[in-house]
Amino acid sequence: MPDGATAGRRVRIYEVGPRDGLQNEARPIPTAGKLRFIELLVAAGLTEIEVTSFVRPATIPQLADADEVVEGLGRHAGVRYPVLVPNGRGMARAEAAGARALAVFTAASDAFTGHNIGMTIADSLAAFKPVLDRAASLGWWRRAYVSTAFGCPYTGRIQPAAAIEIGLRLAELGTEEICFGDTIGVAVPDQVEELAGLAIAAGLTPDRIAFHFHDTRGTALANVAAGLRAGVRTFDASTGGTGGCPYAPGAAGNLATEDLVYFLDASGWEHGARLAGVLEAARFIAGLLGRPLASKVGQAGGWDPATGTATSMPPGAGTSMPPGN
Ligand code: MG
Repeated sequence: MPDGATAGRRVRIYEVGPRDGLQNEARPIPTAGKLRFIELLVAAGLTEIEVTSFVRPATIPQLADADEVVEGLGRHAGVRYPVLVPNGRGMARAEAAGARALAVFTAASDAFTGHNIGMTIADSLAAFKPVLDRAASLGWWRRAYVSTAFGCPYTGRIQPAAAIEIGLRLAELGTEEICFGDTIGVAVPDQVEELAGLAIAAGLTPDRIAFHFHDTRGTALANVAAGLRAGVRTFDASTGGTGGCPYAPGAAGNLATEDLVYFLDASGWEHGARLAGVLEAARFIAGLLGRPLASKVGQAGGWDPATGTATSMPPGAGTSMPPGN
C-alpha cells in the first residue's frame, strides 16, 4: 500500500484476553503463565491489555492472583495495562499493586447488573464515583463498560437510548472511554450503526466510544465493520477467542484478536499488532487451557495475497490442501 494510503486509518485494539478471556475458565492458569501470555501480547504489538480484575477472589477464583499479576507486569513504553475495579476495596488493592489504569463495569439492564454484580445500575454508578474520583486524582486512565448494550439475557432487546443514557452518566463521572458491550452476541450491523450514530449525536465523541463484540452468532466482524463506518475506532478482542459465552457452554464469546487483526490488515487499517505474534500468543494460551484454538484465523492461518498461501500456521501444519469447491 503506498505511503499515506492508510493515513487516518488507525484503529485501537483493546485486548481483553487475560481478564475477560480467562475469568470464566475453570482450569487454573498459574500466575507465571498469565504473565508470559501478557508478554507475548506485548511482543505482538498490542499496547492496551486489560490484565485482571480486583473483584473479591472468591467471586472469580481464576483472577484471585490479581495483585501478583499486576506486580509482575513488565513495564514497556507506550503499553497500558487497565484492571477491572468494582469498588473501593478493589481500588485499594489495585493501587497497592501498582496499577495505573482501570475499567469499571455496569450494564444497560438492571436485571443483568442484579444477576452479575448484585446491584442496580444506579447503585453501581454511585459505587463507581469515589473509585473514579480517586483514579482521576492519581492520573489513571479510566474506561467504563456498558454491558448488555444491545440485548439482555433476562429482559430481551435493549433500546439504544437506554444504553446511551448509561454511557453519558459514566462520561459525566469522568471516564475517558465508554465501551458498549454486546454481552450475549445478539447485535447485527444496522443496530451497531444506529447505536454509534445516536451516541455521537448525544455528545459522546467517537474517540470516547469503544465496542466490545461477541461472536456468539457469527456477527462480530460485521459489527466491527459497521462501527468503523459510524466513525468508531476502538474495538475489544481476546487473543485466542477465549471467554466463551457464559450462557451457552461451548459457544463462542469474545471476538478473537487474530480474527480482528486479519480483518483490519486486509482492509488497510493500521493498528500496530502483528498477526504472527498474536497467533503465537493465542497458541500459548490455548495450550495452557488444554484445547484447540476456537478462532477462525487460528485454524486457517492468515493469507498471503502475493502467493495465495496460508501464513502463520502452527508448526507442522499441512501447507497444501486438495482442490475443492
Ligand atoms: Mg466479553
